[in-house]
Amino acid sequence: MKLKMLIAGQWTDTDSTLEVKNKYSGDVIATLPVAGQKDVDAAIAAAGEAALEMAEMPTYRRADVLQKTAVLLQERYDDLSRTIAAEAGKALKFARAEVTRAINTFTLAGEEAKRIHGETIPLDAVQAGEGYFGFYLRRPVGVVGAITPFNFPLNLVAHKVAPALAAGNSLVLKPASTTPITAVKLCEILLEAGLPAHAINLVVGPGRTVGECLVSDPRLAKITFTGSPVVGEHILRSAGIKKVTLELGNTSPVIITSDADLQVAAKRGALSAYYNSGQVCISVQRIYVESAVYEPFLEQFIQATEAMVVGDPLDEDVDVGPMIELKEAERIEAWVKEATTEGAMIETGGHRQGAVFHPTVLTHVSPEMRVVAEEAFAPVASVIPCPSFADALEQANRSPYGLQVGVYTRDLQRALWAIQKLDFGGVIINDTPVFRADHMPYGGNKRSGLGREGLKFAIEEMTNIQMVAIRRDS
Ligand code: NDP
Repeated sequence: MKLKMLIAGQWTDTDSTLEVKNKYSGDVIATLPVAGQKDVDAAIAAAGEAALEMAEMPTYRRADVLQKTAVLLQERYDDLSRTIAAEAGKALKFARAEVTRAINTFTLAGEEAKRIHGETIPLDAVQAGEGYFGFYLRRPVGVVGAITPFNFPLNLVAHKVAPALAAGNSLVLKPASTTPITAVKLCEILLEAGLPAHAINLVVGPGRTVGECLVSDPRLAKITFTGSPVVGEHILRSAGIKKVTLELGNTSPVIITSDADLQVAAKRGALSAYYNSGQVCISVQRIYVESAVYEPFLEQFIQATEAMVVGDPLDEDVDVGPMIELKEAERIEAWVKEATTEGAMIETGGHRQGAVFHPTVLTHVSPEMRVVAEEAFAPVASVIPCPSFADALEQANRSPYGLQVGVYTRDLQRALWAIQKLDFGGVIINDTPVFRADHMPYGGNKRSGLGREGLKFAIEEMTNIQMVAIRRDS
């Protein structure tokens, strides 16, 4: 399959190409052109031209495009699910769930487009404001640059494109080089849904060249990025004066208290640690268990881990497919080996077949080991006993990251205590940190990022407040 980029409404080719592989078989499934500086320039110029048209487009028409996009996504459900499974290595059942979420994301964006409003400001609250009437509006920022990761090639693109369009902006999108096919298909759908052709531009190519050109260009008013903390920090330094939203990593903890339903927590915990081979920013990585229930929980968690079916993601029964690249599987293999030389024990898993790393449970870990301290982004979870609930809260917080955390408890006081003590963008009670509904505010504290996504909240980040003051007596 030979695909093209979308620049100024034209499907565009270049001399240089990028191959996209099926992550399980290694077969090349598509080739795409790689953008040069002049292609990125043309994409930004086209988005600049479309910005005014988008800003002036009536709300009902913007909402209509978003709703039609949701309908077309539904119509292509099967093709999109299979594309995600092939290019991202995500098990088909979870690829389908991603398409369902993207349909929700566009539907919610269409609804949210109709709720973008300001408020009145009683200017005469101070003497200088006497005789003035005040209110503010939310106006689109202009051109949004969206840079996305490989692990949700449809729904994380949707979380940038849908709110940007709902707010009346135009875009230049750069998807991950390992998973650009789904983004091309989404752009085809957006044009079919009636979006003005210049309003969405898609450029493909390495982050270090194509991404950098976007980030540093002064014609962009906003960069919205999901990816690794290292790249996020670099983007923040080179963006200049523009709005920046960063959705970065985590070393997601979950706390299992002595009053929790251990079977429920073990089953859900295993799914949350291993689905998409643990390559989810909210994958369970650190499991803190009150000592009183450590042994029975560990036993059930190992059982649930061993029940995961590993194999070809296009197989209906498979839960865990390959990692995105061989070098990623080799990296986590080295991390696990390093941990074992420092005293960690592998309870199950711990081995690699090509790019597949088998779901792995570690015990006897220490806080300094990389498998605990750094984002694993792999199917590896550590189970750690804690002498008390207070200690578990303290250990969960002991991380430079703060995206989401889960707490299993049926004790209301403990739940309230956890909510107050935990320094995370999301605290999930009686579920793992992997829970996300697409309209809730979502984003991290500390090194996990800046700003929030979730339609209403992303729209706030993609609009500027315009204050209006009207003097009564002129
Ligand atoms: P990367 O940071 O490697 O890449 C993300 C995107 O940034 C890709 O499109 C990449 O392009 C691009 N990029 C790379 N270098 C630059 C640069 N110098 N300037 C501009 N763009 C650049 O992340 P991954 O794709 O590996 O995704 C994994 C990370 O994403 C994990 O840390 C994970 O936690 C995080 N993540 C966070 C989420 C959240 O909501 N908080 C959700 C999902 C993932 P290319 O592909 O060409 O390298």
